[in-house]
Amino acid sequence: MLNIEEIRNGIVIDHIKAGLGIRIFNWLHLDKAPYMVAYVANANSQRCGRKDIIKIDNTISINLDVLGLIDPNITVNIIENERITKKIKLSLPEKVENVLLCKNPRCISSTEKYITHVFHLENEDLRTYRCEYCDEIISAGDFK
Ligand SMILES: [Zn+2]
Repeated sequence: MLNIEEIRNGIVIDHIKAGLGIRIFNWLHLDKAPYMVAYVANANSQRCGRKDIIKIDNTISINLDVLGLIDPNITVNIIENERITKKIKLSLPEKVENVLLCKNPRCISSTEKYITHVFHLENEDLRTYRCEYCDEIISAGDFK
């Protein structure tokens, strides 16, 4: 484990599947963050072999539904005064709105501009979602 300055108040995103950390890092635009951010790739983990970790020294709001879509095995730790005050275990959300987009060109959500994109969890093992309007099935990894 690298020696990384601990954070005072912020968020540690832990147990990220190795290789997915960079995707989360980019999605949260952490390359432009004006506060301290640590990105650890390929750390040893007793639970899942290799993992990525992201430490953010700031209390930012993160859409946990999107984070759950990227990797439902993530743990989010909330840090206050250098202590973990909350551990959030993610899972695949049952329902997501305006995160996944339908791929069916004839779907009403593709043709109508102002309609809410709604998807329901179809199969947890396959990580697939079903469009509320046309029943098109898409993968959880296909978020915009
Ligand atoms: Zn659809």
